[in-house]
Amino acid sequence: VKRDPDQKEFHNTAKEILTSIIPVLEAHPEYQKDRLLERFLEPERTVIFRVPWVDDNGDLQVNRGFRVQMSSAIGPYKGGLRFHPSVNLSILKFLATEQVLKNALSGLPIGGGKGGSDFDPKGKSDGEVMRFCQSFMTELYRHIGADTDVPAGDIGVGGREIGYLFGQYKRIRDTYEGVLTGKGLTFGGSLARTEATGYGLLYFVKDMLDDNNIDIKGKTVAVSGAGNVATYAIEKAQQMGAKVVTCSDSNGYVYDPEGIDLDLVKDIKEVRRGRIKEYVEKHPKAEYHEGCKGVWTVKCDIALPCATQNELDLESAKTLVANGVKAVGEGANMPSTLDAIEYLQSNGVLFAPAKAANAGGVSVSALEMSQNSERLSWTFEEVDHRLKGIMDNIYAQAKGCAEKYGCKGNLLAGANMAGFAKIAEAMHAQGWV
Ligand code: NDP
Repeated sequence: VKRDPDQKEFHNTAKEILTSIIPVLEAHPEYQKDRLLERFLEPERTVIFRVPWVDDNGDLQVNRGFRVQMSSAIGPYKGGLRFHPSVNLSILKFLATEQVLKNALSGLPIGGGKGGSDFDPKGKSDGEVMRFCQSFMTELYRHIGADTDVPAGDIGVGGREIGYLFGQYKRIRDTYEGVLTGKGLTFGGSLARTEATGYGLLYFVKDMLDDNNIDIKGKTVAVSGAGNVATYAIEKAQQMGAKVVTCSDSNGYVYDPEGIDLDLVKDIKEVRRGRIKEYVEKHPKAEYHEGCKGVWTVKCDIALPCATQNELDLESAKTLVANGVKAVGEGANMPSTLDAIEYLQSNGVLFAPAKAANAGGVSVSALEMSQNSERLSWTFEEVDHRLKGIMDNIYAQAKGCAEKYGCKGNLLAGANMAGFAKIAEAMHAQGWV
């Protein structure tokens, strides 16, 4: 806090992690030595750079680019790039720290990082996005590589942006390597990567519900967001027999009591790149409400926040509990505030924390790296099968660690402890680095 007094998001995540790993530290006095915790919370490297680009009017624009290389204790840095006006060092350090634990939980050999820019792709032409991506990569290429740091997408960075970034990397380096994940299927992408985070979330949530004798079939689900994670969370929830009644974007939310028409959402968001309020033009019985936070006032059994950080606060948690919610599963990164989590957990709501429940995306990204190294492509079924196995294993680790250290049922504490224990052991073995 003294070193970086303004990094609120990073302080929140550090506080949440540090309070829950105390039992691991007590069981392993060696992790309390050699300033291991201080090293764990200090990025190995942070790169900040300027990104000049020319807009369609011929005017020069300047944005700021970042890459936070948080930990390479168990593998090359791995984590997404976010393009959004809110991007700053505090948010990226919080995301990178979460990524380190998430990647450790995945059981795959990947370290943690995060990056991006305060560039806003909304309303920009394809040409502008391409020129921005090329300029961004013209600096970033020095710091990444298939065995060093392998970025992926995040908010504002989807298949189009990854394609432009990959093209520029290849052009500068003259090397065809798996330096980015989330690539198009014709140039090294993995089947099921697009679906992975949303599908993985539902595999995790179903494990949690099954363990508590709750059948997901027939349950009412509220989802926030209408981006990559939300879309495929809705798809898998529907395949499992649940009824999803909401989705949203940063302007407002849609409530469709008959169940969300996912083909229409995909058409609006993925094809037309439009706004979610266009949904009601085709479904006049559905309601559109301005203000995305209102999505949590809709009565549901299961709530899946899949948009962004801090979108589910204490007030929303109280409304959800009053409306009888049974489970909350985090698809976005840290969508619930700390006081909201405490309120949900102390009112008997099953809680699936982001760093465990949304690890499906990065896990399939790691499988994409394996396929690139092998120069092979696996089938959709094979990748999806492995994803399911990885999510089951993450659930078992979070549950098992919570039981082992005396906080049975607290999957957030369990995930923090299991992820940290793995990183700490690797850091301890590797000396003062
Ligand atoms: P997308 O950019 O595809 O979608 C983000 C969605 O959230 C959009 O509907 C967007 O609406 C909405 N949104 C953005 N900012 C806000 C805000 N301030 N308030 C309300 N809604 C907002 O991103 P993803 O679906 O990829 O990512 C969503 C979350 O999931 C992020 O937290 C990300 O870090 C996390 N995540 C993503 C993974 C992935 O594989 N994609 C993996 C693991 C985590 P609008 O169009 O109006 O901006």
